Amino acid sequence: MNITVLLPAGRLPLDIMNKAHEMAAKFNLGVYLSTAQNLRLINVPEENADEVKAELAALGADFKAPGKFPLPRVCVGKDHCNLGVVETEDISNKILEKFKYKTTTKPKFKIAVSGCTLCCSGVMTTDIGVVATRGGFDVYAGGKGGPHPKTARRIISGATEEEMLDAIVKLVDFHDKHTKKKQRMIKLLDHPEFPWPEAA
Ligand code: SF4
Repeated sequence: MNITVLLPAGRLPLDIMNKAHEMAAKFNLGVYLSTAQNLRLINVPEENADEVKAELAALGADFKAPGKFPLPRVCVGKDHCNLGVVETEDISNKILEKFKYKTTTKPKFKIAVSGCTLCCSGVMTTDIGVVATRGGFDVYAGGKGGPHPKTARRIISGATEEEMLDAIVKLVDFHDKHTKKKQRMIKLLDHPEFPWPEAA
């Protein structure tokens, strides 16, 4: 089986990294860095899974599980890329703070944040995307990858940080209200009540 440790903003704390290494060496596990920027221990024997999780949880590790709000996938951001105009870890934390009350989230939507218009985190092919520009934040909705990729629709241009966060809350609420089970955001763009019927 696999155990996926969630890594907000793709940051891997050293104590978690050391413990993951220790567990991998002890139980002969593989380590996979997932496309969602999380750390996955693979080939975990069933009989050792509880011990592995408990050791990591003792250091504050959180694990992937159904119903959890998706961690934004982020580019490395302004402090580590000279093209960036915002610190993406900070934006990711603010998004997660907005949704910390949310105990269950329907699966099948993802969020991405890019520190500039080059969109290194794949914003255009993600359900909810945030792009920092010199004129504010652009918000995108309805992108998807997979075998039939679609480019997202820009729904807001030049937003303040608060407006951008509010738009994400509105999108997530809309997804909650108008889906019975898992559904990509793109299927909601043409809903008659979708709040942003036109591209911005
Ligand atoms: S999206 Fe922009 S800020 Fe982010 S890594 Fe790419 S070039 Fe740098």
